[in-house]
Amino acid sequence: MIAVAMYTGINGLPLWPIAILAILYPVFLITISTNIRWNVFVKGYHHQKKHPKKEVCLTFDDGPTQVTPHILELLDKYDAKACFFCIGKQMEKHPEIVQEIIKRGHTIGNHTYSHTRKMGFLSSKSIAREIDACNIVANNITGLNLQFFRPPFGIINPKTKRAIQKTGHRVIGWNLRTYDAILNNETKIVDRVKRKLQPGDVILLHDNKEQTVTILEQLLIHFESNEYQAIRPDQLFKIHAYI
Ligand SMILES: [Zn+2]
Repeated sequence: MIAVAMYTGINGLPLWPIAILAILYPVFLITISTNIRWNVFVKGYHHQKKHPKKEVCLTFDDGPTQVTPHILELLDKYDAKACFFCIGKQMEKHPEIVQEIIKRGHTIGNHTYSHTRKMGFLSSKSIAREIDACNIVANNITGLNLQFFRPPFGIINPKTKRAIQKTGHRVIGWNLRTYDAILNNETKIVDRVKRKLQPGDVILLHDNKEQTVTILEQLLIHFESNEYQAIRPDQLFKIHAYI
């Protein structure tokens, strides 16, 4: 019956093109919302094209955790700077690590208060509340007012856009994923990053994964032998991390 209606449709016009569009539209929306680099809804900073110097940004999401101090040690050892996109709840658990990140010359950015899995379904008001709450925690610990924002799961939809317009944050994305939170093969992860590495890249890592420590050390050794310098996003893009 449905198949017949699809074909004959209303007044003889077939319904199947509408049915196909109805199926494809949500897929299209999810695709453009999760591809942060495409800048569909918000202009973000994802990489510096044709950067003349061998400089890249290391960024760490989802901390701080017990893994973060090991990462800080490595960054110091190889004279590298980075940006940590911190979750509000995690900063409440480890305020001393947040202070240590700042003390060692790195920057921190906003990664929402709770990093909820429902992020893609929240209203713009709720997203703005998540961002504001994270800023308040960071401000209580460091006295800084975070200006950088990285959306959890890289989701930027029209509601995120409205929330960011309200809070006034700058979106810092990435153009080189390590997949350190998904894959378990450290050698494969490192080899892939080495192969793709370009000046001006922004690299996504996670400081809540133990394997990231090993991955990071191998990347830093590669940087050193190829004369790459890891700098902070505020240095690469010449923008302020705090207001
Ligand atoms: Zn995250």
